[in-house]
Amino acid sequence: MQKRDDLKFVIVGHVDHGKSTLIGRLFFDTNSLPPDKMAEVEAMSKELGRRVEFAFLMDHLQEEREQGITIDTTQIFFESNNKEYVIIDAPGHVAFVKNMITGASQAEAAVLIVDADEGMQEQTRRHSYILAMLGLKQVIVVINKMDLVDYNEERFKNVKDEVANFLSTISIESEFYIPISAMHGDNVAKRSERMSWYSGSTVLESFDSLENRLSPEDKELIFPIQDVYKVNGKRMEVGRVESGTLRTDQKIVVLPRGEKTTVSSIERFMEERLEATAGESIGITTKDPLFIDRGNVICEVGKEPTLTDDFKANVFWLSKKGYKVGEKILLKLATQEVLCKVESISRKFNSSTLEVIGEDADSIDNLEVGELVVKTKHPIAIKNFNDVPELGRFVLVRDDNVCAGGIITSN
Ligand code: GDP
Repeated sequence: MQKRDDLKFVIVGHVDHGKSTLIGRLFFDTNSLPPDKMAEVEAMSKELGRRVEFAFLMDHLQEEREQGITIDTTQIFFESNNKEYVIIDAPGHVAFVKNMITGASQAEAAVLIVDADEGMQEQTRRHSYILAMLGLKQVIVVINKMDLVDYNEERFKNVKDEVANFLSTISIESEFYIPISAMHGDNVAKRSERMSWYSGSTVLESFDSLENRLSPEDKELIFPIQDVYKVNGKRMEVGRVESGTLRTDQKIVVLPRGEKTTVSSIERFMEERLEATAGESIGITTKDPLFIDRGNVICEVGKEPTLTDDFKANVFWLSKKGYKVGEKILLKLATQEVLCKVESISRKFNSSTLEVIGEDADSIDNLEVGELVVKTKHPIAIKNFNDVPELGRFVLVRDDNVCAGGIITSN
């Protein structure tokens, strides 16, 4: 399981602004590279008559991943000051949003990289918007390739202002704007002597100030039921504890009906347990013979999530076939499945240009993002995405195809 002090972040920015180079540089300067990897990258660079090209390292890791050699396919680790960081690979914005919304990977912070020479580009805006839409508030802005602009302070300030002005329109406030050269290592792990006018943090120092999200174990209990088995005539409810801790003799409430009972036993891999915590798949039996079923959510008495049949959400539409307000569609949230409809779309954006393309819209199409209101046929258990992501994200499914991902912003 993930260690508590791991911090997961994603590096986003326009293509060629230096994401791979920055990752390579972070690896190199924190000695996180296995020596054989470094030798290989050096040899490849030499062959092409260039200095060590960190981007090669990333391509190399990518290849390895494609061949299925590394076990974890989306995450890269490095360590500094005894803190472990996980860089989540974001191959493209659609994949990134999909991963975030489905919980395949969960970034807690982001580095936004901007080329000092080129300034903001379309993807810089697009990616920033996605960070805002996903509720990612911890953003470190790095202005890269300062070597190409002679480490000029004026140029840095201009790009910084451009980025800050844009971010403020989407309610992201960044504490860090760091002038770097990923290629030469300026202000990444080491302070740059070529930019004595800059006295702020290096990239690594800025990481130390990032805060971990409350880890799932420290949150309230959320245990969505996946299935029910009959074992020796007794019902056993199985599922994965999404957050919090479940104990024997604990008083629980079963949503949506709200019936209360007590946990009699917990089983994991055929072994009796006294408790189970976030991330563990378990089976339980209860004192009262309640009809608990797939899609029910078990919680702690007094700490129930919201039970509602309407809520506000940000939805990213990811299907060629669009959606018309009022159309019935299946909503899946944890193990809950319910028919729903979008009642209204207050605003929608084009995810690449970020233009507002409609207010009070009556439809949403491929790659558009909508701020909207969802109405479900029956009440379901939900939380705000920022509080408990496990119960705050959902997908919309039509004809067995996932066509949108959403996060709950308020209820
Ligand atoms: P990505 O597409 O964002 O991953 O960008 P890459 O890391 O592949 O970098 C794109 C190009 O910019 C490569 O040729 C890099 O060598 C170059 N590059 C990256 N960082 C710097 C830098 O700090 N200074 C200079 N001069 N070039 C850089």
